Amino acid sequence: MMPRRMQNDKPRVAVSRCLLGEPVRYDGAAKPHPQVLHVLARCCELVGLCPELEAGLGVPRPPVQLVEDSQRLRALGRDDPELDVSAALRGSVEHLLPVLRQCAGVVLKSRSPSCGVTSTPVFDAAGRLLRHDSGLFAQALARYLPELPLIEESALEDAATRRHFLQQVRRRHVCLSASCCTTC
Ligand code: SF4
Repeated sequence: MMPRRMQNDKPRVAVSRCLLGEPVRYDGAAKPHPQVLHVLARCCELVGLCPELEAGLGVPRPPVQLVEDSQRLRALGRDDPELDVSAALRGSVEHLLPVLRQCAGVVLKSRSPSCGVTSTPVFDAAGRLLRHDSGLFAQALARYLPELPLIEESALEDAATRRHFLQQVRRRHVCLSASCCTTC
């Protein structure tokens, strides 16, 4: 069978677009990250994604935060709690699945209500910090594609963690290249 991608291709890794230096944050800013731009880019093909843009929210847009109320976790407007973009953020994974299924790993922006991976603050309805958790896009992604190596950019700063992530990415890349299965 013809391999879907050649063995010597670089692994494809999806990255939050703001980490690539694109001005897509709610306030029109970017968050270029040296480990992504100078380390990961050398050994991987980087593919940008932004769940909030994918969800149809523009730039600039009202900032949102994670709020847990009556055991419901939602992304609500920081300045306007009537604004609820939870369904849009969770749903953006489905639009991106065709791209994500071709990726060997994902690097998302820490502390974001969409992208954070365990680092995003969760508040109660009165604005008190309850805990930290993953953003709604990151949670949905982990449910749809639990086998996909997933990390946030702040974790890449630790050399051992970065090495481990890249090992997982290379293993998955080999698997995708060989078309050995569609789920591992
Ligand atoms: S949704 Fe994610 S990729 Fe888009 S600006 Fe926010 S942190 Fe960056």
